[in-house]
Amino acid sequence: MLEKKLIGIDLGGTTIKFAILNIEGHIQTKWSLETDITEKGTKIVPAIIESINHHLDLYNMQKEDFLGIGMGSPGNVSHIDGTVIGAYNLNWKTTQFVKKLIEEGTGIPFFIDNDANVAALGEQWMGAGNNEPNVVFITLGTGVGGGIIINGELVRGSSGAAGEIGHIVIEPHGFDCTCGNQGCLETVASATGVVRLARTMAEEFAGLSLLKESIDNGDSVDAKSVFDAAKEGDVFALRVVDKVCDYLALACGNISNMLNPSTIVIGGGVSKAGEFLADKIREKFVRYAFPPIYNNTKIKIAELGNDAGVIGASSLVLNDSFSES
Ligand SMILES: [Zn+2]
Repeated sequence: MLEKKLIGIDLGGTTIKFAILNIEGHIQTKWSLETDITEKGTKIVPAIIESINHHLDLYNMQKEDFLGIGMGSPGNVSHIDGTVIGAYNLNWKTTQFVKKLIEEGTGIPFFIDNDANVAALGEQWMGAGNNEPNVVFITLGTGVGGGIIINGELVRGSSGAAGEIGHIVIEPHGFDCTCGNQGCLETVASATGVVRLARTMAEEFAGLSLLKESIDNGDSVDAKSVFDAAKEGDVFALRVVDKVCDYLALACGNISNMLNPSTIVIGGGVSKAGEFLADKIREKFVRYAFPPIYNNTKIKIAELGNDAGVIGASSLVLNDSFSES
């Protein structure tokens, strides 16, 4: 018998990425579609079904060749019901019965979880997590998300909201967060958070800095320009990056003291700052982590880039079908 395959889908607001993988997690082929969010996002699921069926025809494969389809989605995902609600970048405001429709449309078992959990699974399995059983993933993008894998299993919590690392409070009276609280990690360590922090700190910085000049001139400044300036030795930019990394180290310390992961993986757009970012977090981490934990926790930059989503999504098939049987 031929070894069965997996399909991984990474559903995002601009593109839908697909991959066919073997059960060892290696991508054999991949393709993508633009996400059409018109008509309240009702075209998305039919487009996914059509694209899968079309590609199976193209590769002369049958539904029996697959163990299942896994998908990562934005919004509030019920992995048990296979539904998504409140995915505003997809125009999905009401409950979407994704699992039911895709299983009917393809005849292949379907599994789903939120995009941060799925990226965490991808990095833990095939990326910087090195397939170790205790790995925490933090993604620094437009927002800050996370996923926690303990004893080889995703931690979902009692209502599916575990791993909301972006909403760990790192500054009790800090900036207002979109969640309604104040001082969440997301308000200072997301791509927009880094810029917000830079703007606030610029008001009080008196020295010479090209970055501060840009901010004062009203030039467009993004997280990348803050990190680039810091790498070039801009004193003010370094001060901002130090502050961001101190907050990240505080969050990593608290996470580690509680969960004792072997590795914390940092991903998302801001993590493109690479070892420059990781070194600064490592340096400050010692202040916040309990010593026996500090010595045994690796802080690493994510390795899979855009493939983390499809790889992690495909692993839902393996994890969920084993835990159900
Ligand atoms: Zn928050």
